[in-house]
Amino acid sequence: MMQRSEVYINGNWVSTSGKGKIDVINPATEELIGSVPVGDANDVNDAVAAARAAFPSWSQSTVEERQGYLNALSASIAERTDEIAELISSEVGTPINYSKMAMVGTPRVVSRSYAKLLDTFVWETEVRNSLIVKEPIGVVGMITPWNFPLHQIIGKVAPALAAGCTMVLKPSKEAPLNAFILADIMDDIGIPAGVFNLVSGHGREIGDSLASHPEVDMVSFTGSTSAGVSVSQAAAPTVKRVTLELGGKSANVILDDADIAKAAKMAVYSCFNNSGQECSSLSRLLVPVNHRDEVVDTIKNTMSRYSVGNPMDESIRCGPMVSERQQKSVSGYISSGIAEGATLVAGGEGMPEGLDNGYFVKPTVFADVTPDMTIFREEIFGPVLTITTYETEEEAITLANDSEYGLSGGVWSSNEDRAMGVARALRTGQVSINGGPFNISAPFGGYKLSGNGRELGVYGLDEFLEVKSIQR
Ligand code: NAD
Repeated sequence: MMQRSEVYINGNWVSTSGKGKIDVINPATEELIGSVPVGDANDVNDAVAAARAAFPSWSQSTVEERQGYLNALSASIAERTDEIAELISSEVGTPINYSKMAMVGTPRVVSRSYAKLLDTFVWETEVRNSLIVKEPIGVVGMITPWNFPLHQIIGKVAPALAAGCTMVLKPSKEAPLNAFILADIMDDIGIPAGVFNLVSGHGREIGDSLASHPEVDMVSFTGSTSAGVSVSQAAAPTVKRVTLELGGKSANVILDDADIAKAAKMAVYSCFNNSGQECSSLSRLLVPVNHRDEVVDTIKNTMSRYSVGNPMDESIRCGPMVSERQQKSVSGYISSGIAEGATLVAGGEGMPEGLDNGYFVKPTVFADVTPDMTIFREEIFGPVLTITTYETEEEAITLANDSEYGLSGGVWSSNEDRAMGVARALRTGQVSINGGPFNISAPFGGYKLSGNGRELGVYGLDEFLEVKSIQR
């Protein structure tokens, strides 16, 4: 049980002026595992004032100092890998092996990558009679979701530190405890007071206070499209920079010259990672009509061995949904797929066999899904894969782009030029060819309703910088 009653402001743990606490529930057991305090607008004011006061000195810190802190942050995350992975698995329900790799390993590597990137980052360039200089944007408000909680946080905190920005973080209500461990780490490694501040609380209240605050120069938001729109609206009167990393409904296109069996098998994993609760999950599989049966048979076979259960059991692939609300929402989509006439290939309604508590759903696959069906159009954010057939490559591209989102995508082909042509035609911020792995130095972000920001690597650092031209 991890009960935290204070927030981290100006290098100190302090009581909130808000009232009450937020309980954190283990979604696999429905047990209470901890709580965090409810902060309010006064706490945001204090945290922003601390970040503002720390900015002049931190923005002038040397690159070597920032590299030292980023490397120390990475080393501290590494030292606490097992503890943080177990905590995040208890908060989110992520299977423990995946938790160690993605929930802790990625933030560890991303922190270190920003220290390394500063070795070669170009802060100043000359254009004719002008010197162009990049400067930290100032105080950043950060609002993050629960699904990859520490990864989403470090995707903002590490480049902001590297840029010379100061910050106020508001973590999600569902998985806030890892953010408190991060604040402990920041304190241990001696980050100067006010550079990093943490205020937990309710999304709308803290989010609105941060977004509308005149002393916040930028809001970096990751979460649902609807909350991202609210944040943008609240931020507009102060004309601050708003970067949004939002939802997705990404397509995975199997072309007719692909290794069909391999592509079909991998399609299960690229949809069901983190129990399908992944913004870039490839949840719409598009297959050539004459390979439909082969794909369906392969997936049925893969699903028969796809284990669901206790995320602490190393053999388990799929854990619970993060909350009862999420379980109800995903179950509703499974029912709608059945009601709207899609063919059930695996899974379906109700709890998985042998489980009678926890917020589980059955990992589910539907075939013969048409573009007018709800499960083709809406982000489900759970382990539900849809299979849709197409006749021509052109139709496949049209179907892939037939979404208000544009976050990610996949293409499978034995001809790299052909795959590259399809990848270029997809209106999305990321595309993976033949299962090409995630790259922590490549920009991550969306087109359309999936957002307007780019995180990770040099592009992720640029988000936290202003550009000034000095003419001589
Ligand atoms: P959410 O929008 O409910 O919450 C995200 C954060 O915003 C939380 O901290 C929440 O407390 C806060 N919040 C909620 N309402 C707010 C409001 N009106 N104003 C300000 N802040 C508010 O999203 P979630 O359920 O935590 O996460 C799931 C969503 O996030 C999915 O849509 C997923 O696709 C998206 N996501 C996107 C990315 C990406 O990089 N593009 C990554 C992860 C998750």
